[in-house]
Amino acid sequence: MTCRTCRTSFADYLGGVLPPRRAAKLEAHVARCAACAAGLEEERRLTEALRSLVDQPLPGRDLWPAIAARLARERRVESARSVWDALFSLGLRLVPACAAVLLLSLGLSLYQAGRLQRSTLSLRRDLQAAPATIVASLQEPTANDLVSWLTVEKD
Ligand SMILES: [Zn+2]
Repeated sequence: MTCRTCRTSFADYLGGVLPPRRAAKLEAHVARCAACAAGLEEERRLTEALRSLVDQPLPGRDLWPAIAARLARERRVESARSVWDALFSLGLRLVPACAAVLLLSLGLSLYQAGRLQRSTLSLRRDLQAAPATIVASLQEPTANDLVSWLTVEKD
C-alpha cells in the first residue's frame, strides 16, 4: 500500500467500513510508516472532536418564536430604511435632470430676450428710416410727434 492510498482510506478505516483485507494492509503500512501513523492519529482526533460536537444537545425549539419576532422587527426597520434610501437615491437621480431643465429654460430665456432685443432694434431702425408719412399712417400723431418728425427730417 502506498502512502497516498493509505491516507485516502483513513476515514473508512476509522468509520469501520473498510474491508478487512484492506484494513489489514493499512495497519501493516501504518506500523512501518511514521508519517501515515501521525496522519491516522490526526484523523482519529478530528473524528472524535466532530463526534463530540454532534453529540451536543440541540437548542430547544422554543427559541424560534423569539428569533422570528426579532427577525420580523429587523425586517420592518430594514424596509422603512429602504423606503428612505429609495427616496433619497431618486432625489439624487433627479438632480441632473432638474439642472438640465434649469439650464435649458435659462438658455431659452436668454435666446428669447436676445431675439426680442434684436427685433426691437430693427423696428427702431425701420421707424427711424421710415418717411414721416408712413409713420403718420401707423398712428394718430400728436402735435409733439409732428414737431419731432419735422426736426428729424431736417437733419
Ligand atoms: Zn505512509
